[in-house]
Amino acid sequence: MHIASVGINKLCFCLSLALSGLLLLLPCLRPSPRPLVLPLPKAQFRPPTNSTHRNLNVTPAEVPLKRKGIDAPSTGHVKHEPLNIEDIFIAVKTTRKYHRSRLELLIQTWVSQAKRQTYIFTDGEDKDLQLRTGTNLINTNCSAAHTRQALCCKMSVEYDKFIESQKKWFCHMDDDNYVLLPSLLQLLSSYHHSQDVYLGRPSLDHPIEASEKVKSNGLMSVQFWFATGGAGFCISRGLALKMSPWASLGNFISTAEKIRLPDDCTIGYIIEALLEVKLTHTLLFHSHLENLRKLPPETVVDQVTLSYGGFKNRRNVVSVGGRFSLAEDPTR
Ligand code: UDP
Ligand code: MN
Repeated sequence: MHIASVGINKLCFCLSLALSGLLLLLPCLRPSPRPLVLPLPKAQFRPPTNSTHRNLNVTPAEVPLKRKGIDAPSTGHVKHEPLNIEDIFIAVKTTRKYHRSRLELLIQTWVSQAKRQTYIFTDGEDKDLQLRTGTNLINTNCSAAHTRQALCCKMSVEYDKFIESQKKWFCHMDDDNYVLLPSLLQLLSSYHHSQDVYLGRPSLDHPIEASEKVKSNGLMSVQFWFATGGAGFCISRGLALKMSPWASLGNFISTAEKIRLPDDCTIGYIIEALLEVKLTHTLLFHSHLENLRKLPPETVVDQVTLSYGGFKNRRNVVSVGGRFSLAEDPTR
């Protein structure tokens, strides 16, 4: 009887072994592995602070442009809603005498890709151009002279129209700027429009020094960086709203009078000196004050703005390949 009970135990043991083997062999009967919960990688990108990037050639926002194909970084861990070209208000400053020679060229090229969000600020009526090209041509009624007052008058209207527009970004351009819209969109996508963002390229390698008129009829020295208007610059809506006491409804003109400097300097004065927000320096904007030939041809497509011409060198243009000769396409 003892021997019989040992036999039954052995049999049970063998049967249970066989059953477990069978279970292991049948994948569908195996318990499904628990999903691996890995810690999320820390964001490699530092959100743009308003600390200075003065001497840096690459701002945080330029990082994704240098690594094309990689998604634009978000600030911190918060994912932004994607920025659309419709969210950008592009102001182009021009004057009646440049409608044919400069503006037509823009309308045929980059402006045609962003017609609805580009606003052209001029100083004379041109119904024909407006009807023929369907552009937003705004007659500022400012003087057509190239004076500080006339240029500030135009900037004042640009500012008011932007505020009215409800768009997220204000970008100012001259009429000899070529805007690479995908690069502009990618750059601005790296920031949030509610942050204080002032993006552009200084034309000086040091802050400008101005004499600020103070109440007691005295003068006070003030230093600040400004982005040169000739290369274009952008301001977030959040920051633009803060500029209102010094920029809206004609106040821009009286602010400019306080320091007696042109429109782009006055923008820098309001942002850096009065609001204490730093200019984010970027080398992706280009005016014809630089030697544009020095820009490596393979990087041209990554830039945000380009320009052409110049006082001394009418042929100051970027080097690009392609089938058009310099004679056919003098501004490149
Ligand atoms: N401009 C203007 N009124 C003028 C002359 C020029 O509004 O009487 C504008 C022009 O259309 C351009 C900007 O000012 O958008 C700069 O002009 P320009 O390129 O001739 O001069 P620079 O770049 O050498 O300062
Ligand atoms: Mn110019």
